This record gives sequence, C-alpha cells and structure tokens, in this order.
Amino acid sequence: MLMRVWSVFYRPIFVSLFLLYAQHSSATLVANIKEFDKIVPTLKPGGEVVLANGDWNNVELVFKANGSAAKPITLRAEEPGKVFITGQSNLRLSGEHLVVSGLVFKDGYTPTSEVISFRTSKKDLANHSRVTNTVIDDFNNPERFNSDTWVAIYGKNNRFDRNSLLNKRNRGVTLAVKMNTEASRENEHIIEYNYFGPRQILGSNGGETLRIGTSHYSRKFSNTVVRKNFFDRVNGEHEIVSNKSCGNTYQDNVFFESQGTLTMRHGHYTLVENNYFLGNRKPNTGGIRIINENQTVKNNYLYGLTGHRFRGALVIMNGVPNGPINRYDPVVDSRMDGNIVIDSDYIQLCAGSDEERSATPIGSSMHDNIMMSKTNLNPFTVYDDISGISFQGNILNDEARVPINAGFSKVPYAITKNKHGLLVPSQSLTDKIAFGDIKLPVTREDTGASFYSKNHTEASFTGGNTIVVNAGTNTLLDALEQSQPGDTLVLKNGAKYLLTKNAFIRHPITIKAKKGKKAKILSEKASFFTIENGGALALDNLWIDGAESPDLAGNNVVSTSRYSMTHNYSLAVRNCKVTGLDVNHSFDFLKVYMGTFADSIEIVDTEMTNITGSVLALDKETEDLGIYNVENVLIKNSTFTDVKGTVANIYRGGTDESTFGPMVTVTGSEFVNIGHGKRNKSGASLAFHGVQRLNVSDSRWAKSAPLDLHLTNGEPITVISDILMKDTGKIRANSNKYQANDVIYK
Ligand code: CA
Repeated sequence: MLMRVWSVFYRPIFVSLFLLYAQHSSATLVANIKEFDKIVPTLKPGGEVVLANGDWNNVELVFKANGSAAKPITLRAEEPGKVFITGQSNLRLSGEHLVVSGLVFKDGYTPTSEVISFRTSKKDLANHSRVTNTVIDDFNNPERFNSDTWVAIYGKNNRFDRNSLLNKRNRGVTLAVKMNTEASRENEHIIEYNYFGPRQILGSNGGETLRIGTSHYSRKFSNTVVRKNFFDRVNGEHEIVSNKSCGNTYQDNVFFESQGTLTMRHGHYTLVENNYFLGNRKPNTGGIRIINENQTVKNNYLYGLTGHRFRGALVIMNGVPNGPINRYDPVVDSRMDGNIVIDSDYIQLCAGSDEERSATPIGSSMHDNIMMSKTNLNPFTVYDDISGISFQGNILNDEARVPINAGFSKVPYAITKNKHGLLVPSQSLTDKIAFGDIKLPVTREDTGASFYSKNHTEASFTGGNTIVVNAGTNTLLDALEQSQPGDTLVLKNGAKYLLTKNAFIRHPITIKAKKGKKAKILSEKASFFTIENGGALALDNLWIDGAESPDLAGNNVVSTSRYSMTHNYSLAVRNCKVTGLDVNHSFDFLKVYMGTFADSIEIVDTEMTNITGSVLALDKETEDLGIYNVENVLIKNSTFTDVKGTVANIYRGGTDESTFGPMVTVTGSEFVNIGHGKRNKSGASLAFHGVQRLNVSDSRWAKSAPLDLHLTNGEPITVISDILMKDTGKIRANSNKYQANDVIYK
C-alpha cells in the first residue's frame, strides 16, 4: 500500500517545512519495487517518487516519465545516503526532465551491462535529465573480466553531477557517454563535480574511468563538457579519459596520483584547459596525449608525472595516413600551448612512430610552455620529423636538453611552493605566458556525493594487532581464522607449525617469526595457503618445508583462489627458507589461476631449494588478449637451487597497448640448476613474455637453463647488466631490442 510521504516526515519540528514542501510537490514514499512500479506511470510534472530508507535488494528500477523544465519529476532517497541498492540491481531512466538523487549502489552488481543507464530501451532515452548526489561503490561483477559500465549516458542535454564512483574492480568503463544513435549525438551533456575515486589496476584494456564515444562514431560531435571533477588514484589502465568523439571540453578537472593520461584517442575539436595533473612522482602517472585534428591543450598544470612513452606528461602522437577509423588519425592543426610542467619526466613528440604510424604532426604548435624539471634532464623524445610543429616562447631550465634550438629559452631552475601549496615557477615567468593564478580549480571536498566519505584506503598489512601463536598442529590455522585485516601473527623462533587443513587468507595478513631462528611451517594439504578475494600475504623469517605434503602432483605453498578475484592481491616473501617441495612432480611455490591479479609479488633475502615445479608460475592468461597476472615482481638477494621448472614465468600476451605492466626486477640473486625438468615447457630458468620493464642485474647463474626474453608490444625496456652465466645457455630472445651490458658466459 502506498503511503503519503508526510506520515514519515510528520514531526512537529518539520511541520512548517512540510507545509511549504507539500504545496510545491506531490511526493510519494514507496517501500518496495512493487509500489515503485505502480507509482511511476502515474507521475506528473513536479511529482516525486521517494524510496524509503533501507536496503533495496535485487531491484531493477525503471524510471520512465515526462516532466517539464519548470516541473521535473524526481526519484530520490528518503534521506540522501540511506537508501542502498544492493544485490542484482540497476537503474534505468528515460523521458524528459527527470532527476535522480541520493542513492547508494553497493554490495552487488548489475545483472545487465550497465548500473545506471540513461535509457530504458534502445529507443527510449533520457533527455534533459540529471543524476546527482548518488554513489556507486564496489558494485562489481564477481567475474573480474565480465564487463559492465557503471554509468551510461544516452540521449541529450543530460547532467551527471556531484556523484561518487569508486572502487570499480571488474572490467568496463566507469562512466561512458554513448553515441550509438543520432538521438545521442551533439548531446551537450554536462559531467561536473563528480568524485571519481580509487580504481585499482585492471591488468587489461577496459579499465577506462571516462569514455566519450567509441571509434565507430568518433567523427561525430558529442559536445560533452567535463568540468570540475576530481579523479583520485584512478589506475585502471593507461587511458584515464578516452576521448572518442568530436567537440568535447575538459576544463578545471584535477587528476590526483592517477596512472594514465587524458587521451584524445579519436575525434577532433577537443578543448583541454586548466586541468591539474598531480602525479606526485607516483609510478606511471601521465598527462595529456594529443591525437587527431584541431585539438587545443592550453593552460594546464602538470606536476610530478613519471609516465613514459604514451603516458608522458605531454604527448603528441604520429598517425596512420588514411587509416581506418579505429586506428590513429594524424595530428593536424593542434595546439599544445601555455602549459606548466614541473618535475615530470617525459615529453614525447611523434610518439608511436612506426611503419604504420608514419604520418607526422602538421600545422601544430607548441608555444609558451614552461617546463622545469630536474628529474629527467633529457625530457624530450623526438621519434620522427617535427617540422610540422611550430615551437615558440617555450621556457626550460638551464640543465634540460632541447630537441631544437629555436623556440626555447633557458632560465635557472627555480620552483617554490605557492600559497595554495602547489610548486610553481616564478611569477614573472608565469606572467609571461599569462597563466593566471596557479590553484586547484576544484578540491576533493568540492566533489562527489555530500554524504559519502572520500577517504578511502585499501586494507593493508599495517594497522592491525600483533598476535603471538603457539607452536603445534593448526594453531596457525586457528589464529588465521580469528585474525583481522592488517594483523601480524608472530610465530615462535625455532618452533614447528603443522597445517592439516588448507589455510585461507581472506584479508592482508603478515606471518612472521622475530629475528633469530626461523619458525617452521609444514602442511598435509596440497596447498599451504590460499589467498582468497580480498586477501594478501606477507611471510617473514619462516622455514617452509614440503616434508609433510601429500604425494600428489601439482602441490603448492601459496595459491590464489581458483575463482575469479576482483580484488588485487599482493605476496611478499622475506628472509624465508623454502625446502623439499619435491614429494611429487610440479610442486610450485606460487600457483595462480586465471582471473586473478597481483599488484606486487616479491621474494627478498630468501633461499629456495628442491622444487619440482616453478617458484612463480605467472603464466595463466594465455589467450593473448592483453590480460596478465601480475604488475610488479621483485626478486632480490635470493638464492634458488635445484628447481625443475622456472623461478619466474611471466606471460603477457597480445598486442594491446592499454596497460603498464608487468614490471620485473631481478637483482643480487643466484640461480643454480634451474629449469632442467622435463615438464618445464619453457625450457628456461626465467621466462619473460611481454614484460614491459625488465631489469636483471648483479646475479649469477650456474648449470641452468637459459634466460628467455620475448619482447612484444609497446617499447619494452629490458636492461640486463652485471650477470655471470656458468654452464648455462645463452640468453634467448626473439628480438635484439634489449640492452645487455656486462653479460659474461663461462
Ligand atoms: Ca583503453
């Protein structure tokens, strides 16, 4: 039964407010989806449907109505932030002059391919409508690579403002402007004051935070305005923003410690003005990438960006002459003027130049930019003919090298913190390029849903309790079951811990022994530890021994969940000894499954001996779709002896260029008798396929299979130095595009 809204609001203190309110609207409070469905068709201009506070589980809200400019129709929460849309749920709206506000989507995911959709069918679109003060948080399909879009804006003249979108973990664009029919083009949408909160590394294409258009309709105009949004640690992939249509404006946005760039991937006549990119020297943070025609990039401030190649601070690409619509159009008549770049590493001109991308920029300019950087004194990379770019009035610090002489002047490096806390060059210089006040155009606090926290941090290894665990059978298991995120379990020096059941790691946990004799862990199960979704594991000063492991093929010490994991995990092994993983064949140290992704895996100050499988088998995404299993791997000051498989087999297949990793460092380590097992298909001691950054240094091999390099897409950086290989095959590589300094074979 429907209940008039005043019955809820009727408290003496609200009487006068209510009377005012009642005169201007007819609001109906609904308590469930049946009531909602019944009331929606009756809504008249000025009407309101109010969702009662509480959980709305497994609801597909279809809000189809026609209001007017003077009297929109509203769907709102009884109280903002107290209506939770959970389970298999979504919201679709169509019609004219609609407003949605105050909802929170969490603890579930959409059964369709969109969470909030500005259409109810292919033909029924929303126009002149608004979604505001609404949250989508961690509303993810449990299958990491099942794709969905959180917000899809169709129609025309819509506004998406003051919403918080955070923790998207599965594949798919966070917010997309769709242009698949005429009725969704030249749309004049406004996207403003939104908080785009943390998005973890996806490890594949499809992790864009904002996309406008698609390649198919990219020569059409969208005319969307994106302004005053705060992008906070959005690290999904290398396109934070993927502009794929004409006539869009990006103004006054802040990109805070976000991996990737604002990319003008397709479409012309884009304006990128007065945006602030604060990389703060975090890895892979980038700026602005120009592709296509009549693009204007001016008056932007970029600080502390470390991204290289396509992820540089300022990038102007080469294009494909007369290429198909989904390839790179050449840069024509575009401006990169009046920007300030501080302590950033890479400015790339004619980036991507290759046999296919052979068209150099023409009719374009790079004028009046200030570039002050000591972090890389050779910031410019020129990949091709830059005669089609005019250079004028640019200012660099004395130490920096310049690609051409004309158009650049040098000044001493001088940076100070201004009253707004930003690092700036001298006023006289910024006056010279008429930059104006250097101040964030919007703060984190100015954006997002008013009621929702923007202080999100992921669970980590710190912040928990320290719990001493007594030696014995399953004492460690019991301690794990009772642990809280961030706890440290301290085992007794020299004591023995037996697991007779699989130990599940459900949150970040450290297991360690204090300095001194290692504590020993054995297991009677095929897997010692399984990292479940949300888990992360650090092992320190332990002796892990396979002596009690079952006589089965395919055992492991650590495994990921065998199901898809939406949360990235990490694994750290420090000061450990690993022995006797040899009861049967294919005993791995780490075994991962498809659909899992590690932000970081490290093995430091550790000794591993007698392993019939591999140490790190990170080669499960073999479909060559650009998906991979790990972002960062560190093997440092460690010794590996008698390993039948590989010490690391890292595979990133495909030619897609949307991601950063894997990034691998091997240093100060020793490999003895590695990789000779007949089941080691790679025939290598360490095999790196498609690794984007590889540093191998200061290490020794003896009686081992060779190091195998397969350099694929992008411009992988592979540097090998100070290594000695004794009775070991020579480095095998599919390409000689790597640097090998001081490799000695004996
Ligand atoms: Ca992409």
